[in-house]
Amino acid sequence: MADNMPMLRKDLAAVARKARLTSAVNDVDSIIAQLLEARESIAAGRDPHAASLILTKLQNPIKEGFETVNNDLKAVSKTQKEFGKALDRSFPITPLPTEYDVMQKHPALINRAIAMHLLREGHFDVSRVFMDEARDMASMITNVTADPDHNGYGGDGDHEDEDAAMATGGSLSDSHEAANFTQVESKNLQDKFQRLYSILQDIKTHNLGPAIEWSRANSDALEERGSNLEFELCKLQFIWLAKSRSHDLSPDDSEGEEDDDDGRNASGFGMSQFSNGMSAAFGYARDNFDRFRERHLAEIERLSAALVFASNIGESPYATVFETATAFEDLAAAFTREFCSLLGLSAESPLYVAATAGTIALPRLIKFIGATRSQRTEWTTASEMAFETPLPASMTYHSIFVCPVSKEQTTRENPPMRLPCGHVLANDSLRNLAKGTKFKCPYCPADGQIRDAQQIYF
Ligand SMILES: [Zn+2]
Repeated sequence: MADNMPMLRKDLAAVARKARLTSAVNDVDSIIAQLLEARESIAAGRDPHAASLILTKLQNPIKEGFETVNNDLKAVSKTQKEFGKALDRSFPITPLPTEYDVMQKHPALINRAIAMHLLREGHFDVSRVFMDEARDMASMITNVTADPDHNGYGGDGDHEDEDAAMATGGSLSDSHEAANFTQVESKNLQDKFQRLYSILQDIKTHNLGPAIEWSRANSDALEERGSNLEFELCKLQFIWLAKSRSHDLSPDDSEGEEDDDDGRNASGFGMSQFSNGMSAAFGYARDNFDRFRERHLAEIERLSAALVFASNIGESPYATVFETATAFEDLAAAFTREFCSLLGLSAESPLYVAATAGTIALPRLIKFIGATRSQRTEWTTASEMAFETPLPASMTYHSIFVCPVSKEQTTRENPPMRLPCGHVLANDSLRNLAKGTKFKCPYCPADGQIRDAQQIYF
């Protein structure tokens, strides 16, 4: 399949080249021009017979014009069709395994995931409509299951009965959840995400004010998470002010400075524009950095020292600190992550992650299903994949470590320990192996002291 990609790319390039509507547009324009011209001559002429003559004369050219346009469009559609065929050849339709629909039993959870995804993407209206309709559906299902006639379902065998009961039972409890989500949670979440979007928009235009304001208001919660967001934002504000000489010139970028917390934009200092930026940064540091002194003193000293190199930061040892090429983008991503985590949500949309991981796993799933079918065996572990799926590192969560000795997953109370030889055991296993303060590694087997073993943090 992948072997066909270069060929497909070539075909796609040909489509982009050939399937253009330029000639069709030009030909339509020329028809319009002819019609306009005819209208003007009729309007200008006084003789009513002249009008019908003009119209008669117009017939053939217009008819030809339409034919030309049709031919133009035919050529475009032919190229598109050919590419469609090439796509079909390269990606033959494979029937997807659909007999086991795990999702079916949790319609409300699925709806919730979809609604949340829409909220996260900023499609607030779509999300609201979706949730209203999902709620209507849920109440319909609830009514149906409350209907005693419907519960009198039976006769088709025990197994099917059980499945039906599970499905309706599931949707009953799920629908309750969905209703709660729609009415209370969603409005709240929508407000929060609207705030997030407006702050991200401001960060994009280099206006850090609202982001700093939010992080200051939530500074306790952020600190509890060990987040440096507030300091990082203030740091970038400082750097941006210090560099403001170069972007004072562009009206776009200067917005950031207007909205900045620090009002004295140094115009009263009577220096060049360049030192204005530096003194604004200095003033900002004086007013704002004190609160971070305990945690970030070294960094603050570094930033302050950089001001000494005001005239040629670019060639100073501080050049990398003042590099802001991706700084706003990076901070926007960090901001989203922290904002979502304070809401108890992951930074990435779970629906997006699940769908992407599912797509990556799909070829293997199809292969696996094919293999089990041909061997007439069945996939018994329904809630678990029967094969490994190689997912990118960004989709690996909660690194875990299972002790090779005790076969138990390590915990905060029983953390993984790295022995001097490089092997890793759970702390409990290590203590059990040890004789006094010494132990012998069960794998190499090197001798070591317990105090030389180091705890590993994931
Ligand atoms: Zn070892």
